[in-house]
Amino acid sequence: MRYYSTRSRSQPVSFAHAVLRGLAEDGGLYVAETIPEYRSAVLSSLSSMSFHDIAFETIRPFARDDIPDAPLRDIIENAFNFPAPVIEAGRRGVAELFHGPTAAFKDFGARFMARAFAYLRREESKPLMILVATSGDTGGAVAGGFFEVEGISVTVLYPKGRVTPLQEKQIAGLGGNISALAVEGSFDDCQRLVKAAFSRDYLRKKFDLSSANSINIARLIPQAVYYAASAAKHPGAVFCVPSGNFGNLTAGLYAREMGAPVSRFIAATNINKTIPEYLESGVYNPRPSIATISNAMDVGAPSNFERMSALRSHAELQKLITGVFVDDGETKDAIKKVYDETGYIADPHGAVGFRAADIAESRGLLSGEKVIVLETAHPAKFAETVEPIVGKVPVPPQLALAEGRRVSSQTIPATDDALDAVLRGE
Ligand SMILES: *Cc1c(COP(=O)(O)O)cnc(C)c1O
Repeated sequence: MRYYSTRSRSQPVSFAHAVLRGLAEDGGLYVAETIPEYRSAVLSSLSSMSFHDIAFETIRPFARDDIPDAPLRDIIENAFNFPAPVIEAGRRGVAELFHGPTAAFKDFGARFMARAFAYLRREESKPLMILVATSGDTGGAVAGGFFEVEGISVTVLYPKGRVTPLQEKQIAGLGGNISALAVEGSFDDCQRLVKAAFSRDYLRKKFDLSSANSINIARLIPQAVYYAASAAKHPGAVFCVPSGNFGNLTAGLYAREMGAPVSRFIAATNINKTIPEYLESGVYNPRPSIATISNAMDVGAPSNFERMSALRSHAELQKLITGVFVDDGETKDAIKKVYDETGYIADPHGAVGFRAADIAESRGLLSGEKVIVLETAHPAKFAETVEPIVGKVPVPPQLALAEGRRVSSQTIPATDDALDAVLRGE
């Protein structure tokens, strides 16, 4: 399988190159030259296959030139060492994607990617520096994924004061090979600084540089797995995806393209509604992000828009995806309504999904299909928002561990020079 930049098809690269580089030379995002299809034997037995077997069949065609079958199986078993159940909350299915070590769905991508990096770099001697911009959960998942991985250091940039105390502990509480920078600005500023740093020659001389947020193709592909596994249990379901940078939804499009029995998608955003507006009008109008209670989705200029439009035209995307945005008041109402009606405790991101599904239904945009809402984080991560509405939320063991850590980060203004100074070690 060859990979291209979303901005030019002139320079195909390997899977290993795309993964280790992260962002293409021309600033575009890497995409696979074609989306492979599942073998028919796989499609017919999807519902009886294990999660690990589905993962293997999903990832293998993308990675096989650089990761042989045996190490790929090891990586998969090691990375996905937690369950991904689909449960019922009233009429809705809920794909609980938060059972990993940082209690958010980004564990799937980050844990796979960290192990893929370690494998692909097994004979390298130059140190690898990973630069990540996070709006909250990516940073913790990436830090956790790479913590104590030899020969790799990670620098996480996060918007100061815009992540929860627990997210901050997950990002800035590990130490060791993980450094944390609190940027005086928004997530979009963090993302801009990271993108700019990638074009600095002096950094490239010192380190191999890569990114590890949702722009990395090794983060994206493993996320297709839980769509296939969940759809196997509910063929023909509509997947409602709480979205920010749109890596998750793009992975869903890949799974559907491969042949997973997914009917359509609801793109559920908070008030950062760039994509719902694009779907409606055909005009893509990126803008600065606005802070909300579903802060991991506070993205005004979603990176993966480039991948979505590389895959499908506006008219095709419009058929495949219903865009719905939900404000903070409606999000809180949804947490209460879901809890009152079903006893299920949604986190603010999942709640955006629950509400978006209701809105799509009330507008007549569903035709009786089962809706599976992706629950992207454990509600205990957002206790500040959730507990005043539903009362005490039990803390799962992986979060109790993180709660005990001490934050150690450096604050910087949102300028290229400030990031430069830190990375040069000044
Ligand atoms: C990152 C994140 C999202 C948004 O996912 P994207 O792939 O960026 O669209 C939603 N919910 C939670 C909890 C997240 O951490």
